[in-house]
Amino acid sequence: MKLDVNVLRYMSKEDFRVLTAVEMGQKNHEIVPSSLIDSIAGLKHGGSFKCLKHLLRNKLVHHDNSKYDGYRLTYLGYDYLAIKALVNRGAIAGVGRQIGVGKESDIFEVTKEDGEVMALKLHRLGRTSFRAVKSKRDYLRKGSHFSWLYLSRLAALKEYAFMKALGEHGLPVPQAIDHNRHAVLMTLLDAYPLVQVRQLSHPRTVYEQLMAMLSQLASLGLVHCDYNEFNLLINEKEELTLIDFPQMVSVGHPNAQELFERDVECIIRFFSKKLGYVPERDEELEVIRPSFRDAVASIQGSIDQELRASGFKQKYQDDLDRFIINQQHSGSEDDSDAESGSSGAGSSEADEQASSSGYSSDAEGGSSRGTRDRRGSHGGSYAAA
Ligand code: ADP
Ligand code: MG
Repeated sequence: MKLDVNVLRYMSKEDFRVLTAVEMGQKNHEIVPSSLIDSIAGLKHGGSFKCLKHLLRNKLVHHDNSKYDGYRLTYLGYDYLAIKALVNRGAIAGVGRQIGVGKESDIFEVTKEDGEVMALKLHRLGRTSFRAVKSKRDYLRKGSHFSWLYLSRLAALKEYAFMKALGEHGLPVPQAIDHNRHAVLMTLLDAYPLVQVRQLSHPRTVYEQLMAMLSQLASLGLVHCDYNEFNLLINEKEELTLIDFPQMVSVGHPNAQELFERDVECIIRFFSKKLGYVPERDEELEVIRPSFRDAVASIQGSIDQELRASGFKQKYQDDLDRFIINQQHSGSEDDSDAESGSSGAGSSEADEQASSSGYSSDAEGGSSRGTRDRRGSHGGSYAAA
């Protein structure tokens, strides 16, 4: 998807007001009636209709008149709301090239006023699977269908919270800088995914570091669950950085040990098959497979508190888990076009939650730098779940 930041320049204050009104309306409507948008925006002389036309031309909203005349946000529209909020509070000044396309995210280089370059991850939960989920509603209990806006926002909130906490515990992760809606702002790494590596100068050292990191995560109460050559970046000095946290689970999860062992095996397989280094055959290697039990035995119990402080509530985790389970039930039907389908959810409990936890609170370019998200941080603890 092309993210042309110039579009921002052509957008008037009124355009943003109307775009924000669509976002607010989506808390209770899959398709927001034009009349509701008009009344939320509160522009004089039907000004919102002209703005909607402009937004539609720039693909920031989608028009739907199958049941009534209405609109909903596109990914692009949601992107611009997040970017605008980050720009308004001085976190970023411009958006550059795309550096990564994940299954459920797009990653861009962004710059600050002083020229510093950072990475912005825009979550797109449900991009590949929302249609599939929707077409198999039988799997979904009543009220358990969430809009991609809500889920993508949760994924970003979780990623930001975990990145921050892990960084504070000395794990090599990007520095979490800021977040808004479905966007996470972090430091840009001068490193590339391990999958691009064919040979290492010190495979044993790198392998040992990888296993030590898994044990350290477990001792902090967490299993990564996607610990592979795509989510581990390596630099020229063969130093590692771990990324991608929305799927992490607590060591208290019923399948935690299995998931931990799967992470270990993933690395062993990659080293054996792609790098020609077989850990089992290296007699000087002290630990081939770190013990989940030992790691958990030395648990340091503070991380869940930090996660709560970042506003990632148990309720959010439950909602994300439910989506992930539904996704697994739905198979992996490819659908890269969730946007053009009616992927939003109606007035679910989740959207209520979204509205009470400030997902549109920075809509006017709030200067709170995430404090609103932190405010409701009295929920259950995640890592201790
Ligand atoms: P997804 O959840 O979609 O898999 P990731 O967080 O794994 O997204 O990022 C996808 C790709 O983007 C990575 O494989 C990496 O190449 C690149 N990337 C992600 N974060 C950064 C970063 N902070 N600095 C540099 N490149 C990054
Ligand atoms: Mg990834």
